[in-house]
Amino acid sequence: MKVYANRKIAVAGIRAKPGERAQGYAQVGELQDHQPARIPIAIVNGARPGPTLYLQAASDGDELNGVAVIHRVLRMLRPETLRGAVIAVPLVNVHAFHAHRSHSPADGKKMNRCFPGNRHGSTSDRVAFFLFHNAVLQADLCIDLHQGGVNPMIDECRVRVNMKDRAGPASFELGRVFGIGYIFHQRGPDGQLARAAPAAGIPTIDPELGGTRGWDAVSIRKGVRGVMNVLQHYGFIAGKPKIPRRQVVVRRFKTVYATRGGFLALHARLYSVVRRGDLLAEIHDPFGAVVERVCAPADGVVWTYPPYPMLASGQTVATIGTPIRYV
Ligand SMILES: [Zn+2]
Repeated sequence: MKVYANRKIAVAGIRAKPGERAQGYAQVGELQDHQPARIPIAIVNGARPGPTLYLQAASDGDELNGVAVIHRVLRMLRPETLRGAVIAVPLVNVHAFHAHRSHSPADGKKMNRCFPGNRHGSTSDRVAFFLFHNAVLQADLCIDLHQGGVNPMIDECRVRVNMKDRAGPASFELGRVFGIGYIFHQRGPDGQLARAAPAAGIPTIDPELGGTRGWDAVSIRKGVRGVMNVLQHYGFIAGKPKIPRRQVVVRRFKTVYATRGGFLALHARLYSVVRRGDLLAEIHDPFGAVVERVCAPADGVVWTYPPYPMLASGQTVATIGTPIRYV
């Protein structure tokens, strides 16, 4: 059992002693009008010693559910009753956020391919470098809140390192404790925070809180529950986590494409467990006649659907998470 000491936490110029809360903006560069580009950062430093959790949202600038999760978590946390500390960055990708886009318009990059960052790189690399070296490396646990962009997706949690990787088993355990019920366990691409932080020994998860434009109340509630589960399980706050007895784990996705074009009538809902050959959807012509029956290519869970009920040939009808294992 690791022994922690009470310590002052500082990120750039934002400082909180044990028992204090601090928030402010850290400058990460300049905008094109020469004004500072700033990222909001909050620190809740508990009166009692304990581990440090790093929490971030909106690494993809249009993924807003995590922002609302951080708002609620910050309202609930009290330095007097907290063990350890929480460093929260509610809006990572400010450039993309202002543009209502996932990728930064400044360099066209996806922030979650830029970690651990590069101080001499392009705009997103520099922001990633700043956060990784000033905040993430102070943490014992890391949660990077995402969602499936603006397309419908189940609420799930991704573990992006394998069991053999550094912090692999601890990252998977963090995902189990988050307790959202569905885990996608597959090593992710280079540059993900959920790869870079475990490589530095920090267990990390990438919860995917549904997919919507703006805010989705159900996904936000599940995200808050997940963060509270982590805070309770690892001893930051009192209370018993609500972790499901059985959670689905899948290791890959099968993409199901339409052969014909037309309108999509769904037969299996998101979260449905389907068997290979089960009917997923029908495609209708503009007169309403069935022109194709689309079936599940494997046993699995219906993970995503497209945002609109119409498709061209070769567009994605659904994604199936497979094979199903339980933990
Ligand atoms: Zn994302």
